[in-house]
Amino acid sequence: AAPGRQSYKIASIPADGIGPEVISAGITVLQKLSEELDTFDLEFEHFDWSSERYRKEGKYLPDNALEIVKGFDAILFGAVGAPDVPDHISLWGLRLALCQPLQQYANVRPTRILRGTSSPLSNCKIGDLDWVIIRENSEGEYAGHGGTSHMDEAWSVATEVSIFTRHGTERIMRFAFETARSRPRKKLTVVTKSNAQRNGMVFWDRVATQVGKDYPDVEVDKMLVDAMTTRMVLKPESIDTVVATNLHADILSDLAAALAGSIGIAPTSNLDPTRKNPSMFEPIHGSAFDITGKGVANPVATFWTASEMLLWLGQKEAATLLMEAVENVTEAGVKTADLNGKSGTVEVTDAVSVEIEKLA
Ligand code: ATP
Ligand code: MG
Repeated sequence: AAPGRQSYKIASIPADGIGPEVISAGITVLQKLSEELDTFDLEFEHFDWSSERYRKEGKYLPDNALEIVKGFDAILFGAVGAPDVPDHISLWGLRLALCQPLQQYANVRPTRILRGTSSPLSNCKIGDLDWVIIRENSEGEYAGHGGTSHMDEAWSVATEVSIFTRHGTERIMRFAFETARSRPRKKLTVVTKSNAQRNGMVFWDRVATQVGKDYPDVEVDKMLVDAMTTRMVLKPESIDTVVATNLHADILSDLAAALAGSIGIAPTSNLDPTRKNPSMFEPIHGSAFDITGKGVANPVATFWTASEMLLWLGQKEAATLLMEAVENVTEAGVKTADLNGKSGTVEVTDAVSVEIEKLA
């Protein structure tokens, strides 16, 4: 590396379906940025941890997977899921098997309308919808705590216990308040279902109030998750930063992505804010087997994901330039079918590379 250039080691896990197509597009634009700017180098190592590996070896990950990824500065992840593997096996076998032990407790999901694209909401223009949804990513409804009994009997039962610890709830609240504070509007909406779920959700609200005392400059409101869905549709401009549980934020962020134009543009970051472990960056969308191999997958979610990764690594100039390039391309009408365009994955990727060259 040239003097003064930062060098980063990135573990790439393209995995299933359109994962390899969009990750390859993402790496192309990241390499282009690294060539055009004098600030950083990227070294990628690829891992074949996928449903194909699961079929062959009965496991998604090798035993030393965590040790391996801990040697990297960040992880770039595609999508996991295959038609012949139950979703709970693939999700827990790969994605959650990394996120949870790596203590990536903050899942960050920025959403806004990109130039040249539109929201399905006719009343919603660029700037009206500019949100960051913070999802608790380590416990709650996805704690994996529960069990089944008498499964073959008429009286079979299953439990799925939500877990909210003081440690887990406090750290995500602090992260959410910090995020809200870093944004111009300094507004945080705390989402629960505390009217019906009177233990964990009332606790969640209580911790929010306690942590909020350290952030008097942040304006807070509390909202039930059902009411939140209608607010997102009817008053998008009233929302800025949102913090919600693992399950609630999962649902809200799919809605958010659709309201911003397409699931094909939405990025997500699984962060370990302590920076003891590498963080993991991925498009929100899944493996999308209905369009796999057709060359039509929207790579924008992965470009935005790459931009979020650069931001986390401290390369703000490159991160901003990448999104500028992406929006110049969408504004010029070079878009995939999910954004009502006619271009394919490679065409969009090439157009973004050309834009990077112009802007750098
Ligand atoms: P998973 O269980 O992995 O989340 P899923 O089937 O629930 O998978 P997706 O794979 O995200 O969800 O697909 C949902 C729909 O969105 C599909 O019709 C898919 O084709 C479409 N889609 C997802 N990602 C993209 C993309 N990058 N570009 C275009 N369309 C996409
Ligand atoms: Mg899905």
